[in-house]
Amino acid sequence: MTLGAQVQQDAVVHVLGVRFHTLTRQQVVEQLLHWIDEKTRRMVITAGPEFVMQTQKDEELRHIAHVADLVTPDGIGVVWAANRKKKVVQERVTGVELVQELLNTAEQRHQPLRVFLLGASESSLKACLRRFRKDYPLCEFAGRNGYFRERDLPEIMGQIESFAPHVWLVGLGQPKQEKLIYHWLGSLPPCVAIGVGGSIDVWGGTVKRAPAAFRKLNLEWLYRLLKQPSRWRRQLALPRFVWHVLRKAGHDT
Ligand code: UDP
Repeated sequence: MTLGAQVQQDAVVHVLGVRFHTLTRQQVVEQLLHWIDEKTRRMVITAGPEFVMQTQKDEELRHIAHVADLVTPDGIGVVWAANRKKKVVQERVTGVELVQELLNTAEQRHQPLRVFLLGASESSLKACLRRFRKDYPLCEFAGRNGYFRERDLPEIMGQIESFAPHVWLVGLGQPKQEKLIYHWLGSLPPCVAIGVGGSIDVWGGTVKRAPAAFRKLNLEWLYRLLKQPSRWRRQLALPRFVWHVLRKAGHDT
């Protein structure tokens, strides 16, 4: 995974050691389409505070974040931390919106993309594939649910290889999806791999995204907590993240 010429080295900001690219969503879309044209293997991470906190105690994940071609700020906490000294990040670039914008742009430009989705339950995946096939008729979609055994992976990779996608979306949750992409991308034909977390559930309609009012107030995390109280333990990463950022104030690490 090598950093593309278009992603300039100075268009980055570090948050607790993780290097984020400061591109807008549309700029990221252009970059992805360029990589697709180039036919190279690329890895994209959409990272929020929870991911950043995972990298603090997981050396392999830190390495993966370091070699990824693009790391986007997915989470208001990351935008806040990145912009504390100087406003460098203009907007959140979430997996849900990034992929929709990529597919919209490809359709508008009559660029038929082949997209493989790996992740989520069978029912979410089916609903998502139905919706994508209807909304993006020029593109071609295939998928496999995310509940498989380790030993099934070679067979799954064979399925992806024969589909030869331009875009490989992996929605297994973090950090599982990033580790899987890191270990398997090299064995697939060139494609752009994006870790999309629970986005397949959102596209399929089995999980609702926070209403616009919550998103506008940057309270999407609160909505998710109210809808799925079982997430509280995971969401403790948020205050821990804020505390770490404040503690490291003054250092660009
Ligand atoms: N998932 C999966 N296989 C697994 C574990 C999880 O496909 O072994 C899926 C799960 O169904 C959900 C997604 O991974 O669609 C994780 O969603 P979550 O909201 O936890 O991810 P986030 O967006 O917070 O990273």
